[in-house]
Amino acid sequence: MKTVQVNIVTPDGPVYDSEVAMVIAKTVSGEIGVLPGHIPMVAPLAISAVTLKKDNGSSEVVAVSGGFIEVRPDKISILAPSAEVASNIDVARAKEAMKRAEERLQKKQDNIDFKRAELALKRAINRISVHEGN
Ligand code: ATP
Repeated sequence: MKTVQVNIVTPDGPVYDSEVAMVIAKTVSGEIGVLPGHIPMVAPLAISAVTLKKDNGSSEVVAVSGGFIEVRPDKISILAPSAEVASNIDVARAKEAMKRAEERLQKKQDNIDFKRAELALKRAINRISVHEGN
């Protein structure tokens, strides 16, 4: 088996669907590289970049805002609250979101707002970094 089918799906619909040679993802307990034929597993993802390596040597990067990766030998599914292919990221929007989140964090209101702002900041930083190819 040289490639595996990868689907990235959000509540708004499918974001990515392709045959790839390797998936590199960041679970909450560390980075994993998944090759075709991998044993089944499910793991929660960090707010992070997913790298999809094609068998022609090229690769694509998708920003995911958490969710889960489900691995089966012939299919990998990523279910995320939101996800964007690098080329579809609106970097100006992410910078605005980052600014808003930073302002909220500086105000230090109650705990719930703080946690929400922290997550919004992480999503924004992740989008900017994926857009910039880091
Ligand atoms: P914002 O405050 O800018 O809405 P957010 O982190 O709260 O950012 P999400 O709730 O994660 O946004 O996503 C809402 C929808 O908007 C999703 O479909 C997501 O893919 C899309 N989205 C969010 N930010 C961007 C961006 N910078 N570029 C492209 N799509 C984005």
